[in-house]
Amino acid sequence: MSVPATRLADLPIRDDLRGREPYGAPQLAVAVQLNTNENPYPPSPRLVAAISAAVAAAAPTLNRYPDRDATELRADLARYLGHGLTAPQVWAANGSNEVIQQLLQAFGGPGRSALGFEPSYSMHPVIARTTGTAWISGHRGVDFGVSPDNAVAAVKRHQPDVVFLTSPNNPTGTALPLAVIEAVCGATSGMVVVDEAYAEFARACAPSAVTLLPKCRRLVVTRTMSKAFAMAGARLGYLAAAPAVVEALLLVRLPYHLSTVTQAVARTALAHAAELLEAVAALRAERDATVTWLRDEGFEVADSDANFVFFGEFGDTHVAWQDLLDRGVLVREVGPPGWLRVSVGTPAEMAAFRHALRAVVSDRHRAAGDV
Ligand SMILES: *Cc1c(COP(=O)(O)O)cnc(C)c1O
Repeated sequence: MSVPATRLADLPIRDDLRGREPYGAPQLAVAVQLNTNENPYPPSPRLVAAISAAVAAAAPTLNRYPDRDATELRADLARYLGHGLTAPQVWAANGSNEVIQQLLQAFGGPGRSALGFEPSYSMHPVIARTTGTAWISGHRGVDFGVSPDNAVAAVKRHQPDVVFLTSPNNPTGTALPLAVIEAVCGATSGMVVVDEAYAEFARACAPSAVTLLPKCRRLVVTRTMSKAFAMAGARLGYLAAAPAVVEALLLVRLPYHLSTVTQAVARTALAHAAELLEAVAALRAERDATVTWLRDEGFEVADSDANFVFFGEFGDTHVAWQDLLDRGVLVREVGPPGWLRVSVGTPAEMAAFRHALRAVVSDRHRAAGDV
């Protein structure tokens, strides 16, 4: 007698998770993948050799647990960030998503709330909910910006325990002036988390919130090696904050959360920062060229300080997304309605994107009879 398979709905899952969909940016086998803001440049043969050697050196020690506190890696990350930061002010985990989860485990949770200004990174509300933190959706204004007055008003109205400020913002590419971050720090007694996943792609006019750490005691700046460092597969995110913030995270992190292999790979990538950041300069130039081209073609385009471009407006975003996919180019449909996000790829990938988008637009005109 076979027992019928158990369905998710039959399990005694938490009520707040019932009916939810998992995070799911499509991972499709398409020629041109410009949908998850990955860095299109794989590690160089030189870096591949260095990573292989570092993993080989670590392999004989894998019977032992890793350094629980990732001391050497945190010292390397502090050196990379500069501004006189030291290891006790830096923390690392498996991607900045895990860093954010640890922050909400320590500073959010049941009976507490977190505020973000949307449209923004879709994982902030997801991680808030899974840690039992109530999510408050604040709004962005014209040009997807956040003004100091609006931010302070939202913070005073809702009194959140954690405020998320994403700069440069995903999916819009918008960087926030430091004045906004300072104003929020002054208006809240909670934690202020500036998600700087795209900091290295910012134009010169957008300085890092790391410079505010000496002034703002409850400020946390999160970073990742997934984008600029082209290490999305290695899973390494980190933060800079006061040492007391790191002490709080030690209370919630799982022991030995960051594997010996991850620590070795991340340290090797950091040792090759100069080489990796050269590719970032090329991506920034390609990004600026993409913004200019889209504007010349008549699209609305948000200013971008990231490695992607947010553009519109489409009458039916999903149809436009599918039309591009049918031509072999995968972009991201993340909302708000009417807008699509394209990650900056190699020059060849961006040429394919431009070609596909032109074809989609001219097919549309032909179908509408306005040839
Ligand atoms: C990509 C991204 C992250 C990075 O997540 P990882 O877990 O480090 O790969 C974090 N925040 C934002 C806003 C992002 O777009």
